[in-house]
Amino acid sequence: MKKNISIAVDGPAGSGKSTVCKMVADRLGLYHLDTGAMYRALGYAAIRNGVSHKDLDAVLRHIENTEIKVSFDEEKKQHVHVNGEDVTDKIRTGEIAQAASDFGTVERVRAHMVKLQREFAAGNPVILDGRDICMYVLPDADVKIFLTATPEERAKRRFLDFKQKGIRQDATLEDIAEELKTRDAQDSSRKASPLAVAEDAYVLDTTNMTAEEACNKIIAMAEEK
Ligand code: C5P
Repeated sequence: MKKNISIAVDGPAGSGKSTVCKMVADRLGLYHLDTGAMYRALGYAAIRNGVSHKDLDAVLRHIENTEIKVSFDEEKKQHVHVNGEDVTDKIRTGEIAQAASDFGTVERVRAHMVKLQREFAAGNPVILDGRDICMYVLPDADVKIFLTATPEERAKRRFLDFKQKGIRQDATLEDIAEELKTRDAQDSSRKASPLAVAEDAYVLDTTNMTAEEACNKIIAMAEEK
């Protein structure tokens, strides 16, 4: 396998990107960047500061005043910081997911994020997951994957994941399904780098697969490089 391999993974909400990419990263010794967490962190700070994604001047000031940083702890878990505050455990709410999606529609926000993500990826063996990685962030990635699963399966996984982690206990399966549907529709239809399958990406449908099986497939593809 190439020394500085780069793996790009895109896919809709709840397709298992974070879980599978973390597994691949652990097994291959790569850095895993969950780019969604960066959009969420920006959305979190925007809610706190009362910034609307519809007010472009305010969004530009918000980007300027908000330093988003990513770090990794000794277990290689990613932490995301906003102006020095670790917000990793505060950004998993439905409201913040929607804010991330709203701010992700703004071209200038995306340009800013893509720059940070490319800086992170430069010169390191990496796996990045998000919505625009294959086509925009790492168009020259060695392995490109579009990870997906049926909407029902994705909602179910997200629901069980929340239950297991003890977060969003009040949300029903129907609530989660509805949230994913709204967010996917916006992510796929926005003008600025919408979620889409890159021409040269391998579509990995994990509806009937375990995370481990999906991970094995990505590793096999990486080992061919
Ligand atoms: O992956 P996650 O669900 O945490 O992402 C939250 C939101 O951030 C997505 O719904 C999407 O709108 C946005 N996002 C994006 N581009 C990325 C990663 C996330 O637009 N590369």
